[in-house]
Amino acid sequence: MKIRSLSALGRAPTLAVALCLAAACGGREEGSSPPPGAAPTSGATVTQEPFGVMPDGDSVQVFTLTNAHGVQARVITYGAILQSLKVPDRSGALGDVVLGFDDLAGYLGETPYFGALIGRYGNRIGGARFELDGASYVLAANNGPNHLHGGVRGFDKVLWDAEPVQSGSGAGVVFRRTSPAGEEGYPGALTVQVTYTLTDADELVFDYLASTDAPTPVNLTQHSYFNLAGDGSGDVLEHLLTLNASRYTPVDAGLIPTGELAPVEGTPFDFRVPRAIGERIGADDEQIRRGGGYDHNFVLDRGEAGADQMVLAARVEEPTTGRSMEVHTTEPGVQFYSGNFLDGTLTGKGGVVYRRRYGFCLETQHFPDSPNKPGFPSTILRPGEEYRTRTVLEFGVLP
Ligand code: BGC
Repeated sequence: MKIRSLSALGRAPTLAVALCLAAACGGREEGSSPPPGAAPTSGATVTQEPFGVMPDGDSVQVFTLTNAHGVQARVITYGAILQSLKVPDRSGALGDVVLGFDDLAGYLGETPYFGALIGRYGNRIGGARFELDGASYVLAANNGPNHLHGGVRGFDKVLWDAEPVQSGSGAGVVFRRTSPAGEEGYPGALTVQVTYTLTDADELVFDYLASTDAPTPVNLTQHSYFNLAGDGSGDVLEHLLTLNASRYTPVDAGLIPTGELAPVEGTPFDFRVPRAIGERIGADDEQIRRGGGYDHNFVLDRGEAGADQMVLAARVEEPTTGRSMEVHTTEPGVQFYSGNFLDGTLTGKGGVVYRRRYGFCLETQHFPDSPNKPGFPSTILRPGEEYRTRTVLEFGVLP
């Protein structure tokens, strides 16, 4: 059963979620207008239907967000995963630009976090341990001796409560869950709310909110793999990347930052002007070797922007289709991962085999291993504080 386009209802989703009556599902009703005095709504719509069933019998839902230009995002309640994202190329043809699976079984099997919400801590925590206020905490070690992306069962592997939302800026889904104290070793119960909104300006907006009842590290991010030429169309080495970062955080052999903020100047990590992802990926460079390509956190140049203000993190252009994507964020860093560990063992949407570098990730975040790096911006959330970050993906086409 689908939920009817909320914009067509012309009122807040909390007031009514009407069931779809038939063909009107998924589309905007021509000529519908909000009642007098109601807040204006965007042309974007949201519908809901079943996606699959968990081994314990719980139902997984998929929400389809569609904007006035036909841009379409599908997100599922398992892992708050962005399952597909269709955006136009320069001729207007829609193409899916994220990697993933057609069905729930794919996501329940082995997946390198395709499209998932990551928490409590995106990226690595060295030695899977940290100290906080004089106490030591041991986390789940799921990446050699280190903790990666929230542990064995992170936010990417749980079912989220979800409801559709409609606002003046777009249509979306709000995901909610409380991560219990002790989950994967983290202290404090963490109440999380993440909203994905598709706007009529062809933006996909991620709003992260959290609060805690005891001090804990928090670093939420989104782990979509992009290929702007289209999912499964080949590798991403010809994409042109710009990163708004003069420094990056070099890593040790386990991909844990050394603590240094190194200048990108004169290195294969200098993307301050557009460069093809593949141009220097085979460079004779110790850091490139450690990552097997790019798998590094970049320190964003924030200029005069305050810690909670949006800055440009990255811009990507795909010359053949003309698609472009900009990433804006309130976060201090972005992990640029060039899909080095994709190795042809996973078969994704439409039977496509995902080979090395068939997708790239731009994970906006605080720096890896911050709980063990006093020199990095703090990731500790305390009771009474509000964790609030925003990342916006803005899609366009080249002239
Ligand atoms: C990490 C990679 C890791 C990948 C998992 C990325 O965020 O930086 O090292 O292998 O996630 O697919």
